[in-house]
Amino acid sequence: MSGIALVVVGAGAAGFRCAEAYRRAGGSGRVLLIGDEPELPYDRPELSKSILKGSNAHTSAYLTTAAELAELDVEFLSDARVTHLLPAERAVRVRRAGQESTVSAEGAIVLATGGRARTPPIPGVRLPRVRTLRTMADALSLRSALSGNPRVVVVGAGFIGTEIAAVARAGCDEVTVVDVVDRPLPALPPPVSAALRRLHERAGVRFRLGTSVAELHGTAAVESVELSDGEKLPADLVLIGVGLVPGDELARSAGLACDDGILVGDRFETSAPNIYAVGDVARPRSGFLGMSARHEHWRGAHDGGAALGRFLVTGEQPVSVPPWFWTEQFDAVIHAAGEPRPGDELVVRGDPDADAFTVFTRRGGVWTGVVGVDRPLEVRVAQPILGRDWPLEDALASTETDLRRALRAWTSAGA
Ligand code: FAD
Repeated sequence: MSGIALVVVGAGAAGFRCAEAYRRAGGSGRVLLIGDEPELPYDRPELSKSILKGSNAHTSAYLTTAAELAELDVEFLSDARVTHLLPAERAVRVRRAGQESTVSAEGAIVLATGGRARTPPIPGVRLPRVRTLRTMADALSLRSALSGNPRVVVVGAGFIGTEIAAVARAGCDEVTVVDVVDRPLPALPPPVSAALRRLHERAGVRFRLGTSVAELHGTAAVESVELSDGEKLPADLVLIGVGLVPGDELARSAGLACDDGILVGDRFETSAPNIYAVGDVARPRSGFLGMSARHEHWRGAHDGGAALGRFLVTGEQPVSVPPWFWTEQFDAVIHAAGEPRPGDELVVRGDPDADAFTVFTRRGGVWTGVVGVDRPLEVRVAQPILGRDWPLEDALASTETDLRRALRAWTSAGA
């Protein structure tokens, strides 16, 4: 194949948004979007939400249609795996239906390869009915495995593990979450973890925290989970939700700078000319608050992909936005923006023992994060404080203060 302006490897949210934005910004030439799944690009957050809950309309998860791709004039290769990146030739090797071909880009190559669910090296982890959740195929098969009231053990108390536990509890009597950490969502402030735990325990989910999994036992399929403290939990289904391994193999074997993901600058550029990386696989050398942290969040994939697509056409410097994510747990939604870290100073707005409140985090006098339990508006309104040292603790802490009004003066002064 020749004469291709833009080659995008990986047809998830970041890859699709990049190709789409490139076209909508007026990018010319052929655009090729290559994905190794059989599906049209889809939104992974739906997997642990509407799809797992039983929505048959997987269409709710799709980001586009074949007709829209045709209208955008984006050529989409599904079921096609890029096996090699050839930076010197500005090309990739693609395997599809047993055939290998080389695809060269006249303009840019974008790596939007996301990652795969991490599988810890626990004895028995390959037994049948031990699952992870990353793809549409995983979600559909997990959904059917959840029918019939299995005893479920979820390994991992992060946001995917706890979301799965919440959905599983709707149809299963016994759901237990196990993690070596001492609280769920350990990256978020302790009052948020406590609220999440209350929500789960009220619904009947059990936690075994501060203990790791020693071994999974079973013959034809998993039957029990042995913890490092010796306890054995009976299990008909085990879900592993312990994070992501970034899909940076292509980049690493081509000699691009990688370190827990593909290292990128503020224009998503990698260490090789004309090769960019975006989404879950990319790790900024210097991101929000100058930190080099890789995020596995929807907003980074969507907004980052779109910003890169536009940049490739217009040369406009992509605007850096703080990390942001949400998670749905039973009827509650938690939103988090910024980089809250363990040990940050906390300012709580509302009653942390109630089901809705907001926590602001500060480090070295600078606001680092805002996390709301069922407080989406406050999280949105408060984002201008992130990265600032505005002395707002009293206004933030008092539910009597109109947050929007309190921030307006500072926002215009600080802009
Ligand atoms: P991906 O979505 O992983 O897409 C990468 C694509 O590239 C994949 O299709 C992959 O198969 C393909 N690929 C990889 N290597 C190759 C290759 N060599 N050749 C061809 N194709 C390749 N975030 C939130 O903020 N809130 C949520 O509530 C939330 N819920 C989530 C629930 C689940 C179950 C999961 C799995 C994720 C969730 N996320 C959530 C995270 C969010 O979905 C991700 O951040 C986002 O999907 C990342 O998009 P991406 O395009 O970078 O990577």
